[in-house]
Amino acid sequence: MANAEKQNAELIWPPPDEREFENPSLIVEYAEKNAKKGDPNDVLKAADYYGWNLGKLRSIAIGDVKGKFVDEVVQDVNPTVALECGAWFGYSAVRIARLMKPGSCFYSLEIDPICAKLTERLVKHAGLSDKVKVVLSDAHEVIPQLRDKYKIEKIDLALLDNGCKHYKGNLIEMLDAGLLQKGSVVLSDNVLYPAANDYREFVQSHKRFESTLFDTHLQYTPNVRDGMEKSTYLG
Ligand code: CA
Repeated sequence: MANAEKQNAELIWPPPDEREFENPSLIVEYAEKNAKKGDPNDVLKAADYYGWNLGKLRSIAIGDVKGKFVDEVVQDVNPTVALECGAWFGYSAVRIARLMKPGSCFYSLEIDPICAKLTERLVKHAGLSDKVKVVLSDAHEVIPQLRDKYKIEKIDLALLDNGCKHYKGNLIEMLDAGLLQKGSVVLSDNVLYPAANDYREFVQSHKRFESTLFDTHLQYTPNVRDGMEKSTYLG
């Protein structure tokens, strides 16, 4: 069987919870052991090496291919406040926060205490602890409280990566809280795999969003199509 066919045959459909894809503590341990302390690029390099070469299952990070697209968006938006729903083990926190300007803050909302701890570890190894705040909470609960609890007036950039079934609800919660304003950009991962059809329909038909698809492949898995939706709020 050709390699690509073999990988496809090994894919589980419907996909399990993304947390089952790979034990994230193995990736964090690998990065701590192999990446230079205080060097976020080296931390990402180690995590990507793990994802491509050492992972028995797909890694749950956004990976380097979608990561380059995210880098471009971060540089373009130049956020003061960025936020993600779903930290996993901190790959995207490191990826995004390393490009954010001094005085900016990246909030990483994570519901699982183990993943929150792993994220803090990876962020610390990357030397980004002063810029990243890990919030151990259900995104649905904390988004409506961000204004009062964390004094957030506007989210310049949001990444939705906490499981596709939550995206639409989280987006509506951000809108209801008035946290998305003109120029705010929302990225959402895995919109083609496992797929976020209700979210894409909502955001693409919403008159206040301009939405495009970055059509690519699943992290570290070139034979599985996946994409990231980029949605700009028009105000
Ligand atoms: Ca993801």
